[in-house]
Amino acid sequence: MAPPTHTITVAGGGLAGIAAACALADSGYRVQLLERRPYLGGRASSYEHPGTGEVIDNCQHVLIGRCTSLIDLYRRLDSLDAIRWYDRFTFLTPGGRATVLEPGSLPAPLHSSMAFLRAPAYSLADKIAIARGLSHFLSDLPRDTSEDFAHWLHRHHQTQRAIDRFWRPVLVSALNEDLERISVHYAAKVFRESFLLSPESGRMGIPSIPLSELYNRAIGYIEARGGQVYLRTSVESLSPAENGWQAHAAGQAFASDAVVLALPFEGMAGLLPTLPHNAHSEELGTHLAQFEHSPITGIHLWLDREVTDLDHAVLLDTTIQWMFNKSRLQPAHRGTEASYLELVVSASRSIVPLSRQQIIDLALRELALFFPAVASAKLLKAAVVKEVRATYSIRPGLDRLRPHAASPWPGIFLAGDWTASGWPATMEGATRSGYLAAEAAARALGHARTFLVPELPPTGLMRVFSR
Ligand SMILES: Cc1cc2nc3c(=O)[nH]c(=O)nc-3n(C[C@H](O)[C@H](O)[C@H](O)COP(=O)(O)OP(=O)(O)OC[C@H]3O[C@@H](n4cnc5c(N)ncnc54)[C@H](O)[C@@H]3O)c2cc1C
Repeated sequence: MAPPTHTITVAGGGLAGIAAACALADSGYRVQLLERRPYLGGRASSYEHPGTGEVIDNCQHVLIGRCTSLIDLYRRLDSLDAIRWYDRFTFLTPGGRATVLEPGSLPAPLHSSMAFLRAPAYSLADKIAIARGLSHFLSDLPRDTSEDFAHWLHRHHQTQRAIDRFWRPVLVSALNEDLERISVHYAAKVFRESFLLSPESGRMGIPSIPLSELYNRAIGYIEARGGQVYLRTSVESLSPAENGWQAHAAGQAFASDAVVLALPFEGMAGLLPTLPHNAHSEELGTHLAQFEHSPITGIHLWLDREVTDLDHAVLLDTTIQWMFNKSRLQPAHRGTEASYLELVVSASRSIVPLSRQQIIDLALRELALFFPAVASAKLLKAAVVKEVRATYSIRPGLDRLRPHAASPWPGIFLAGDWTASGWPATMEGATRSGYLAAEAAARALGHARTFLVPELPPTGLMRVFSR
């Protein structure tokens, strides 16, 4: 255990800050977590929607089996049983025809191949192209270069339907970006981990409770270990102190031996001018200025009847991309004849300028193509949540701009999904960055700690292919 005299301030109570604060508190440090909002979870949170009076997630959040550090965080928060796991993915074409992708009995990487062979959404030529494409990611991931994934698909002779019904829907929802703006390295990572490494790696986890209920559990965890969580506390500046730093927030000064800044990239850019200037901080500022946002839009619909018995589905050939049947996924929304669905549009630049009503009309029109009962159902209420700063854009070459945990200032460590976690903008990326920053802070205070959790090993034939 660390000496209790060491205090560490964590600024930002999103996944990165929660992960860092929980790991450090559990390791014996006195943690003070400062969060601007009245709840934890950051971009993965829920709240009472003013127009509907319903508690909604800001957007459906999912994880995959490969998210080992996030799963470790759920274990810490005693929340593993709040995650429901799915091996089966249903891709629907307008008209409602289903392609089901799920693991069979063959060893990885062939575990999904029988389902692919049966899939009606793809022709034989599409299937051959997809198999050829995926084979490039068997041994390892390509490096992050200036090539975008749309170019890569073209160079590898993918059919238009394979792009429209496989590569794009999987990737746009996993990375929240258009194919023309996605790094080949991260595209390959998604496909290798979701379809090739092992059945466990690719299964999908969905929280069965609202996100804030899930992540607010960190407050009890930190406080039970002698730490404190300050909500509605926005860090305005930082200044050097005798043995560390002072964070200035809400008229108070929080002194500590070390600081983890777990802010979104625009939050970090805002704080930068308050920190001492040096050559490295100048470079960090230049790099931060090159990050861009990509939006996600969630459309929440309450209908007077059930329109599908699926828990979730990928919707092909339309603007709406995923359907999550919240009545089935979250027990709190079960129990009536009515149903609550959330539709997700990732990289939603095309619909952000539309009005709320235009988006609802579009969503209902398209949803009826997959589920005919929608046409005769009555819409009871609806909410449209446009998250214009949902994630940073994972464009080619961005990795060289993502900083590691060590910052330009001794005693300050950087976390957040935008830092160099090896993952794209996801809850796992944020959690990994939090654990990495916590390890670096402990190291600077003279203690070796390991918080990051090893990745899942490849199984079956992937053990032979993997480098
Ligand atoms: C609509 C949407 C859908 C998504 N879907 C998925 C998904 O399905 N799966 C997935 O894995 N990921 C998903 N993501 C991405 C995921 O939510 C983020 O990558 C992750 O939550 C980022 O965590 P973070 O801690 O790095 O940043 P944040 O969550 O942004 O946390 C930063 C925190 O810092 C606080 N803060 C900012 N400034 C200050 C300050 N000055 N002082 C104190 N506090 C401050 C903020 O209030 C915030 O709580 C989605 C994101 C969005 C928005």
